Amino acid sequence: MLSVTFLGTSASIPTVDRNVASLAVQREGETLLFDCGEGTQRQMMRYGVGFSFREIFFTHYHADHLLGLTGLLRTMGLQDRSAPVTLFGPRGAQRVLGAATALGIERNKFPVEIVEVKAGDCLGREQYDIVAFETEHRADTLGYALIEHPRLGRFNPDRARELGIAEGPMWGRLHKGEPVTLPDGRIIQPADLVGAPREGRRLVYTGDTRPHLAVIQASRSADLLIHEATFGGDEESRAKETGHSTAAEAARVASEAGVRQLVLTHISSRYHRDASELLAEAKAVFPQTIIARDGMTVEVPFSNVP
Ligand SMILES: [Zn+2]
Ligand SMILES: [Zn+2]
Repeated sequence: MLSVTFLGTSASIPTVDRNVASLAVQREGETLLFDCGEGTQRQMMRYGVGFSFREIFFTHYHADHLLGLTGLLRTMGLQDRSAPVTLFGPRGAQRVLGAATALGIERNKFPVEIVEVKAGDCLGREQYDIVAFETEHRADTLGYALIEHPRLGRFNPDRARELGIAEGPMWGRLHKGEPVTLPDGRIIQPADLVGAPREGRRLVYTGDTRPHLAVIQASRSADLLIHEATFGGDEESRAKETGHSTAAEAARVASEAGVRQLVLTHISSRYHRDASELLAEAKAVFPQTIIARDGMTVEVPFSNVP
């Protein structure tokens, strides 16, 4: 399972209905946090996101993406956490995240590592990679793509039995792509009973940005694109001035990248109750669009499930 829970969906300032930026990605029992605006820890409690995560990825260090870090770390300290936490972020990570980590008179009771990343960096994991990409927001900023490794092709057990291969370790070896030799001397090639490898899923989070070529490239054929859409079309010039996107601009990025689903977040307080105007503007360009709200969870299914 791969899903995203939106912990904060407001731009710049919290409102009664929307907290500032943060989201949790949950994948096969693991939680990854992206951005950590003020009040994120309480949103996690409210929406059932556990504190057992090990990594937080920051898109940039504007206050609405950052200020929740200190409180979250302190709470985890009070809960006797001992497992380390790693904080990833663009240029300035040591200075800014280091200051947020050290703020106050308490000291961390568990190790906190800070890692500066740059566009193009690929953080390899066992079953997926996190790839940082360039965004455009009048600051040192990054977006992140979670790209799952291809899955093994589909194994055909009926075909295996037909070929006289007993259920057991040979099945596993064939599934992983190794030829096997049967007791009667026949050599079986994986292609005889295993399908082609299948694409993993791709989830992309932009953070704050103008529409940007590198975002389109990173989002190519993504299963889910989470793009900021701070403004409506009537504030296009303000979006340009402040390094943000309008809903229609985000939709054009989704359309050009050919993504399956677009979720808009980082919504101006002007639309905090009713973002239907933004939704309509985006859907006119890219119909598979929804607007995030706090506490919303979006599942990311495989595109090629049988
Ligand atoms: Zn922001
Ligand atoms: Zn910002």
